[in-house]
Amino acid sequence: MQFEVIAEAYNRMSQTTSRIELTKILSEVLGLVDASLIAQVCYLTQGKLHPDFEGVEIGMADKMVSRAVQRAYNVRDATVNESLRKLGDMGSVVEKISKGAVQESLFPEHLTVKQVYDTLDQIAKTSGKGSSDYRIQRLAALLKSATSLEAKFLTRFVTGNLRLGVADYTVLDALAIAFTGDKTNRKLLERAYNLTSDLGYVAQLISSNGLKSIQRVKATPGKPIRPMLAERMTSSQTIIDQMNGHAAAEYKLDGERIQAHKVGGKVSLFSRRLEKIDAHYPDVSKSIGLIDEENLIIEGEVVALDSSGKYLPFQELMHRRRKYGIEEAIERYPAALNVFDVLYLRGQQTLDRPYTERRASLEDLVRSAKRIDPLKLLIVPARSVQSAREIDSLMTEALSAGCEGLVIKSLDSTYRAGAREFSWIKFKPEYRPGVSDTIDLVIVGANHGQGRRAGHYGAFLLAAYDKEKDLFRTTTKVGTGFTDADLEHLSKMLSEFRVDKKSPRLDAKVSSDDWFEPKIVIEVLASEITLSPIYTAGLGILRKDSGLALRFPKFTGKIREDKAPEDATTVKELVEMYQKQIRQFKASS
Ligand code: ATP
Repeated sequence: MQFEVIAEAYNRMSQTTSRIELTKILSEVLGLVDASLIAQVCYLTQGKLHPDFEGVEIGMADKMVSRAVQRAYNVRDATVNESLRKLGDMGSVVEKISKGAVQESLFPEHLTVKQVYDTLDQIAKTSGKGSSDYRIQRLAALLKSATSLEAKFLTRFVTGNLRLGVADYTVLDALAIAFTGDKTNRKLLERAYNLTSDLGYVAQLISSNGLKSIQRVKATPGKPIRPMLAERMTSSQTIIDQMNGHAAAEYKLDGERIQAHKVGGKVSLFSRRLEKIDAHYPDVSKSIGLIDEENLIIEGEVVALDSSGKYLPFQELMHRRRKYGIEEAIERYPAALNVFDVLYLRGQQTLDRPYTERRASLEDLVRSAKRIDPLKLLIVPARSVQSAREIDSLMTEALSAGCEGLVIKSLDSTYRAGAREFSWIKFKPEYRPGVSDTIDLVIVGANHGQGRRAGHYGAFLLAAYDKEKDLFRTTTKVGTGFTDADLEHLSKMLSEFRVDKKSPRLDAKVSSDDWFEPKIVIEVLASEITLSPIYTAGLGILRKDSGLALRFPKFTGKIREDKAPEDATTVKELVEMYQKQIRQFKASS
């Protein structure tokens, strides 16, 4: 297949602001791709070469790309720089330069998708001495043979700026339409994706073997499973009622969630966002390595401990999130993996077994792991509860042990990969009436700062996630709670995600100086949720022509790097919070 077909589709995608149109273009193009290449096309379209959990990144800086451009088109550094100053985007610069260049192609025919993918993959996987020259030379060779449109998108890809707004759900919708003609089949594809976290794999399966093979997909060690999440509830009585009078209550530990995989004895650790984080926790990998199972998937929370084995707050653990000096950090900030689930054991996926069975297997596993330091691998404390009183008393115990609260789990529930449902309910003290919980929102726009804040952003436009429509809908602008260092840090982070116009995944009525791809999640507090005609979160749900806005929003200081934008507070949750607030107001007046 010629790469030109893909580049033309990218061009149309980059010009639309409609998600429906975006999905349509993608489904048309995916329908044309051969099964042997469809995984690669899915990755490329999302600006990747492999699924995220493999951690392969191409990341070429503008300077390096500029050298490839000089070589490919025989232009001078100054020409590229000047053009970049004017156009602001290296992709557009290369498009323009290539239009005026006389090229001698290295590839006699048009570029194929395979040539492009393989070359980019080689560029990404080359490191060490002499690698820069090699990367520049390979990119220059591609550019030499590319049309100007191809060159634009190749450049955007290698600089990490492809930004077509294609989210995981967009790909799943497009695959369902392309290969089954029915968008409702996305649910089946989503299940397979939740179990493997690999859209390329799902695409390749459906295009070569159809829906039946998708229904047979099982969890496999080595491919991270999308985590099951908890709903929140605000009173122990409603929780026990929801659980039909009997449940298991576990401590909710305040650390970092880890999914540990063991494949033929080799251990990999994945974060809540399913990124590989082995490097931060070699001590955890070592413990898992000592479990007498060759293939295994377990989940738990890593928590920092003090010398007596007491849980310490999350901030202590963050000392472990460093690139260098990790051995010293292990000594200074000891941590333990506290397991709470087992998803694969002895050649079988266990996630479809009931909670009680999984918990019994997990207890066995930890009990028999005799070679591991008992302060390195623990099981999360759990107790059977049959009344609100029992939940409340365990909550007091959990809080005095340094936990955030409880997670109450339904005894017969299976592990529902990627789902947030009421079979797990989180219960924290701040959910009790009168205290507001934090909200995690995605930065989608920003206004330039004035006065002391000149040169940085001064206020950010935030959005909640609409899971049903896979869109981000705005709910507030926040400008308080930021230190100068926060603003500098955020401005830097956001510069990577700036886009020329609103993302097709964003629903916004208000204006903004700059727009961003929905990527960065921050935590805010607000005094109240109100109705507003200018924000689009929950628009028309509670009142015609009104959405929900936050009153006196304030940044808490936490950038939720552990959350993907799709893990942000949802529109549905905001609506529920609003309704809860109205009920409380009525009860107190
Ligand atoms: P929060 O914002 O409250 O941290 P979250 O949105 O990150 O929550 P939730 O699914 O809502 O994630 O809450 C569950 C999280 O709590 C898990 O992701 C996990 O990291 C943590 N956790 C701590 N203890 C447990 C436990 N016993 N069982 C399940 N999850 C636990």
